[in-house]
Amino acid sequence: MKPLDIQQIGNELAIKWDSGEETFVSLLKLREECPCAVCKGEVDVMGHLHIGPASKLSAASATLRSFSYVGGYGIKPVWGDGHSSGIYSFDYIRRIV
Ligand SMILES: [Zn+2]
Repeated sequence: MKPLDIQQIGNELAIKWDSGEETFVSLLKLREECPCAVCKGEVDVMGHLHIGPASKLSAASATLRSFSYVGGYGIKPVWGDGHSSGIYSFDYIRRIV
């Protein structure tokens, strides 16, 4: 499914899909599920999982400054705390909702 429209409504992100369905996901939830290596950790060649210092989320962390579309398969939000390395595919968003 492809989104026809994505907009922030209050503290949620509302996604309207081409199927006619709509998905609402809270910004805090999205922020907590940030899929980037810093937030989710990285597995090295030895199979050890490295996770950065537990990211403390501030109130600003879960505010959305802006977002951009990435290659037609996802979005990249810029959070209020400046964090912007997470790319959320539309599949991923649908999975965490
Ligand atoms: Zn992240």
